[in-house]
Amino acid sequence: MFINKDNKLNTLKKWIENSNYTVIFTGAGMSTESGIPDFRSKDGLWKGIDPMRVACVDALITNYNLFYEFYKQRIENLEKSNPHKGYDILSNWERKGLISSVITQNVDGFHQRAGNKRVYPLHGSINTFRCSRCGQSASKDNFINKDSCIKCGGTLRPDVVLFGEALPQDILNNAIKEIQKSELVIVIGTSLMVYPVNSLPSMSKGKKVYINKEIYQQSFDLDLEGKAGEILEAVNQQLN
Ligand code: NAD
Repeated sequence: MFINKDNKLNTLKKWIENSNYTVIFTGAGMSTESGIPDFRSKDGLWKGIDPMRVACVDALITNYNLFYEFYKQRIENLEKSNPHKGYDILSNWERKGLISSVITQNVDGFHQRAGNKRVYPLHGSINTFRCSRCGQSASKDNFINKDSCIKCGGTLRPDVVLFGEALPQDILNNAIKEIQKSELVIVIGTSLMVYPVNSLPSMSKGKKVYINKEIYQQSFDLDLEGKAGEILEAVNQQLN
């Protein structure tokens, strides 16, 4: 049992140095320090509505105006935001060979923007768009202007995986392979409540670490309670 945070940081540093295959697994809590709200913290609610009731297939089909407003606001907020220091650290770790890949539930594209090359975005991207009916691609401006599809007249949507939709099979398969190869998985900023991706970390035969603002998962070899960016900076200092 680890007693204090310094011990935990030092343990994580040693595990990173000794691991031959480390995989990072992130969720919405990785981006809150960049000003992107998550879904389950108290300020994650949107206009008093549970985002899971808007970011879903049902809303896309039966309440497009609400669906559109939700994503328009998220897209505009994203335009004002940038990946924080913690993202740069993960990018540096990949460059130095300390981590092998990043699996993310996030749709903001921040890992790629920060420079990570091996990223598996399980829930798609909020930065590209298509017709919700025929799949014809569209631009961000088309979506923001609430244009119809040029091919079939359907409504437009971001390329995110909505609640109620299947995950992209190729990305999921590759992510599972990464986890199965891993000697160390570092899970950052996720409530681990979204199925099926919440089952991925446990597929590793290696050590499992949980970094989150609140610790409510007990199945990890090590947990670090706090803000993702701050903890990554602290670990990074130990590594230097
Ligand atoms: P979640 O909202 O269910 O959980 C986020 C977790 O992160 C919470 O447990 C919270 O305590 C923790 N957290 C918040 N700020 C933190 C910080 N600074 N440091 C460490 N931990 C912090 O998010 P989820 O588990 O990723 O699932 C939500 C779903 O919504 C995902 O599928 C994702 O695709 C989507 N989503 C994505 C974004 C994004 O792309 N940035 C944002 C919101 C939601």
